[in-house]
Amino acid sequence: MKLLRYGPRGAERPALLDAEGRIRCLAGHLADIDGPLLARWSDVLAGIDIAGLPLVPAGVRIAEPVAGVGKFVCIGLNYSDHAAEAGMAVPSEPIIFMKATSSIIGPNDDVLLPPASVKSDWEVELGLVIGRTARYVSKDDAMDHVAGLVLVNDLSEREYQLERGGQWDKGKGCDTFGPFGPWLVTLDEVADVNNLDLWLDLNGERVQTGNTDKLIFDLPTIVSYVSQFMSLHPGDIISTGTPPGVGMGMKPPRFLAEGDVMELGISGLGRQRQVVKRWPG
Ligand code: ZN
Repeated sequence: MKLLRYGPRGAERPALLDAEGRIRCLAGHLADIDGPLLARWSDVLAGIDIAGLPLVPAGVRIAEPVAGVGKFVCIGLNYSDHAAEAGMAVPSEPIIFMKATSSIIGPNDDVLLPPASVKSDWEVELGLVIGRTARYVSKDDAMDHVAGLVLVNDLSEREYQLERGGQWDKGKGCDTFGPFGPWLVTLDEVADVNNLDLWLDLNGERVQTGNTDKLIFDLPTIVSYVSQFMSLHPGDIISTGTPPGVGMGMKPPRFLAEGDVMELGISGLGRQRQVVKRWPG
């Protein structure tokens, strides 16, 4: 199932994508797509006649596919080739940091550079969404706690992240720095989480190319590992790290400027498009 939300910010409605790629509204059957829904989505949707759901006209705003995200956890340096371009050692344990949930926007909303930002950067990533509370879970049991996968752009202000006295969170949680979606693809629809292509184009030029077969720590390892330090609840997101090709790794480095356009995608998980603007005023 591909679950999504659409409509103006603050008035989003739940929906799904049908087999023909059309958006169909679920508002007659459930209030929203959030943690409580993700904990029991298959029961809730089991009796619904998809072909009978109202079609949503094309061109509506697509929102982030999960409402009320409690935690937005990220894994750093999880592709060996990205660690190399960042000039950092391959970590012996997963690096965990948090993205403020106030950074969350829809997949095609504008990204606004903070007023003092000079080193904002892009990071296409595979995100997973928790569907069942996970606390001290084993690797073997970890994926039973995952509802599905999403595409994430882990926008990062490198000066704030690396030159402002720590920690990484300073550069990760700026408003508009957390687009995810367009859909949450439930895990049963993903053939192989360890073989998903990721890509990101900046102004039409391919800058990031990767595949989840290059993850240092795979999804079960990540869910199990994070659950040793905090409980994970339905609707929480873990973004699993970025492949090479970020602006910080270019020679010379390249950072986002007003007017830039980022387009990114993951096989089977849809695509995003963000226009970069300066924070107004
Ligand atoms: Zn990242």
